[in-house]
Amino acid sequence: MVRVERRNSFEHKNKLKDFYHKFFKTGMEKLNDRIVDSYDMDNLPLPLEVEIETVNRCNGDCPFCPVNVHEPQRPYAKMTDELFYKIIDDLSELNYSGQLAIYSNNEPFLDERIIKFHEYAREKVPNAFIHMYTNGSVMGLEKFKQIIPYLDEMVLDIYDDRQIITPVIQPVYDYVESHEELHEKVLFSLRLKHEILNSRGGQSPNKKDEAHRSKAKCVLPFQELIIRPTGHISLCAADALGKYDLGDMNTMTIMQAWHSEKHEEIRKAMKKTGRKGLMLCDKCDLVGGTLKGVNGIE
Ligand code: SF4
Repeated sequence: MVRVERRNSFEHKNKLKDFYHKFFKTGMEKLNDRIVDSYDMDNLPLPLEVEIETVNRCNGDCPFCPVNVHEPQRPYAKMTDELFYKIIDDLSELNYSGQLAIYSNNEPFLDERIIKFHEYAREKVPNAFIHMYTNGSVMGLEKFKQIIPYLDEMVLDIYDDRQIITPVIQPVYDYVESHEELHEKVLFSLRLKHEILNSRGGQSPNKKDEAHRSKAKCVLPFQELIIRPTGHISLCAADALGKYDLGDMNTMTIMQAWHSEKHEEIRKAMKKTGRKGLMLCDKCDLVGGTLKGVNGIE
């Protein structure tokens, strides 16, 4: 059976979460504290998730996203082929087996190299779990057929308040329906465009209010490595505008960037005093991340 998920509004959940944030820590927040406290800074494992953003543009207009097509955009940047292959070769040398995404805060199909990049990554980093989220609007059936062999999972986020398979996605849906071997691999996620999600460090256009902040320590600086098209390293996926600059993949290896002085400083601060005083973090309500064996909460 084709996997179709109907995402309901998180608004009521957010209200409940805000109430808890004001007075208590939720179970997930307590779990985040415990996980952060348990990390041994001298033996930090490789990131659970590496995201490589190859072009910093999205064609979506979702009101919860700080880098949607209507918001002030980042200076245009597109990763060079040379830098992309260097990053993948680095991961290959590490025999990386975590999650790998060749996108971050962008629509991956706006980069015309996206299929050949996935082909290369699949060959060089065979043990990674390569996944992709796309709005599917510029993909089309032919590109879907070309890219799907290189992916472990594709999630089609269809942003439409009617929560339907839209005409542009229908040919892909029909194709998946008639290919049983793709049923597990592809998820059609029917999303409400006007949803209110995480504040993304207080940057979400429809949720900037600082009342939404969480008191928990955040696991993401211990688990995610986010590489922007310039090669610079951001704090986390919520740092969509790249306000943090924690390393540079043009001059560093993955290991050097992961253990850069700035990265270690953030982790030490997060372990010691939590989000307080950290730019973006002290306004952020995101709790969850990629917890081992526990699904993240949006
Ligand atoms: S608290 Fe928010 S901004 Fe800070 S690292 Fe976590 S997700 Fe990113």
